[in-house]
Amino acid sequence: MKREYCGLFGIYGHPEAARMAYFGLYAIQHRGQESAGIVTWDGQKIREHKGMGLVAEVFNERHLARELKGDIALGHIRYSTTGASLIRNAQPFLVRFGDMHLAVGHNGNLVNTLKLRKELEAQGSIFQTTMDTEIFVHLIAKNLGKNSLEEAIIKACRRIKGAYSFIILANDKLIAVKDPNGFRPLSIGRLGDNYVLASESCAFDLIEAEYMRPVDCGEMVVIEGGRLTSHRICDKAPTSHCIFELIYFARPDSYVFGELVYEKRKLMGAALAREAGVDADYVMPFPDSGNYAALGYSQVSGLPLELTMVRNHYVGRTFIQPSQDMRDFGVRVKLNPVKSMVKGKSIIIVEDSIVRGTTIRTRVKKLRELGARHIHMRVSCPAIRFPCYYGIDFSSKGELIAANNTNEEIARFIGLDSLHYLSEEGLLSSVAVKDAYCLACFNGEYPIRPACGAGKMCLEDGVAVLPGLEKCC
Ligand code: SF4
Repeated sequence: MKREYCGLFGIYGHPEAARMAYFGLYAIQHRGQESAGIVTWDGQKIREHKGMGLVAEVFNERHLARELKGDIALGHIRYSTTGASLIRNAQPFLVRFGDMHLAVGHNGNLVNTLKLRKELEAQGSIFQTTMDTEIFVHLIAKNLGKNSLEEAIIKACRRIKGAYSFIILANDKLIAVKDPNGFRPLSIGRLGDNYVLASESCAFDLIEAEYMRPVDCGEMVVIEGGRLTSHRICDKAPTSHCIFELIYFARPDSYVFGELVYEKRKLMGAALAREAGVDADYVMPFPDSGNYAALGYSQVSGLPLELTMVRNHYVGRTFIQPSQDMRDFGVRVKLNPVKSMVKGKSIIIVEDSIVRGTTIRTRVKKLRELGARHIHMRVSCPAIRFPCYYGIDFSSKGELIAANNTNEEIARFIGLDSLHYLSEEGLLSSVAVKDAYCLACFNGEYPIRPACGAGKMCLEDGVAVLPGLEKCC
């Protein structure tokens, strides 16, 4: 299972800002399903509503029409790992310093939080949550007395390390910041005379806003009085966009990092066909994540694309469990093959990635039972061998099948006639700027070492949850 941590949306100067934020969050719901929150500012008063669950479950007409008043809004959706799925950890994170109300929404993961938190606690800071975002807020507060808000944010950014895209609502300002490496996406759009910000541009489409550009790496964008100004928070660092946004996480109708996700996924599939073509009756994706790469593979190979694995789109987070003798029910309820299309056929399955391989194995077994002659798998990214420290909930190294097995062993475990992962070169051939991406989960070359002086990972509940790694202190 691959999970993204968060999604962000902000809008400035719109009479129905909360409603626009609701729609924006609705469009990027795939980035987090555990909690949702919106904060608004009406020139005098700050208002917030947060809750556990999906956007449509957390907000109703009363919240949007009567309670969340104001023409500036910041929205956030969150996915958290075990132990941190609490309403007090829902965002935006809202605090007050004197006359200033500060609401912060964060997408990403910081990697030097333990040391910073200890330092802040030693200086008297008291924390309400286990979120790394709160550390950032304390760092802003410490710098606010002698500096402007913008300077305080820049000073706070210079202390934190890791992946962050922030949107900050501070009274009548809306501020967006992206870390120097640019791990997580954040874009700027325009709705009439108003500026909008969102993790993915599909949020702009829903409210009929126009996509302008991504927030640059290490850029701070300040929207105030209807004007947008751009500032640098630090010198340029090597760019390390998360390539998994293009492979899997972002919606295919979105632009992230200035690239159209739909087109990139098709190019990855095309590269796969060129790298490891094999004769077969047809190509099929495991829906929905493999759809676009399978289309690219089919177009280059000339083999027909068949949608013979059907996904149930209405599987909720909970359903009544079947009796124990109904094996593999969880997988079967989600994915079911079209039986008559399988018998005697040679099939190429295109998948976006393999994490543990257990779900895929169950479905491949079913295809064998239905009489498939050959089953080949083509994966539209390299093998995932290393955990992610920058905000993607990959399993620990021990649970990543490719970290502990050869390709042949994985093919045998899943029950495949052949298995090919797209090479790094093939993957990079699909993007516009080849050295602008993080590939750490494939090659272990981390753009920011997630380690302290002792060479071990800094861990903290709900911040960097990576089972199996030692604490540094
Ligand atoms: S390690 Fe992998 S998932 Fe994490 S930021 Fe880098 S490319 Fe993305």
